[in-house]
Amino acid sequence: MINLILFGPPGSGKGTQAAKLVDRYQLLHISTGDLFRYEIGNSTPLGLEAKSYMDRGMLVPDSVTIGMLRNKVEANLEVPGYIFDGFPRTIPQYIALDELMEEKGHSISKLLMLDVPDDEIVVRVLERGKTSGRPDDSNEALIRKRIEVFNEETTPVFDHYALSGRSVRIVGVGDKAEIFGRLCAEIDNL
Ligand code: ADP
Repeated sequence: MINLILFGPPGSGKGTQAAKLVDRYQLLHISTGDLFRYEIGNSTPLGLEAKSYMDRGMLVPDSVTIGMLRNKVEANLEVPGYIFDGFPRTIPQYIALDELMEEKGHSISKLLMLDVPDDEIVVRVLERGKTSGRPDDSNEALIRKRIEVFNEETTPVFDHYALSGRSVRIVGVGDKAEIFGRLCAEIDNL
């Protein structure tokens, strides 16, 4: 089983690359951001709670996020592997993910981090905001806040998988196909 964490700041191309990776490796793509937006779209209590954090560029509390992620995995056990996108973002989240994987007899194969400079991210996310309809994509201050949260909260996640040699940095600028090639090279190496 191949279980990947696709990692990187907002707008680093995780969603775009995840879609291409799903095609090639038949993995199940689980994006916590997408799961939250689905809940918001259905006005569920979980969605309403998540929205209050997302609208401020903050992380949704771990208990909520971890519970939702676990449900998604539990509902999809018969898959060749998972691509976790936007999760884990905090220390409790990686602990929960490692436990969940172990419980199912699996483990995280690799964390692939898409490296993109901050100024490039702001440009990309503002551009995405023109069509995505995401309220958190149309305000530069909010985007910078999300980058700051990413840099602060998620460094320990990268470091955790680096300890066991599983974290890899990928240059996330350039041609999409080229970036995809870099990701595949890492996966084919497993
Ligand atoms: P981006 O990577 O562009 O910030 P996402 O769709 O991954 O977009 O996330 C959007 C928002 O959803 C985040 O700013 C955060 O509020 C919330 N979110 C997503 N994943 C998590 C997570 N693992 N833990 C806490 N909050 C999350």
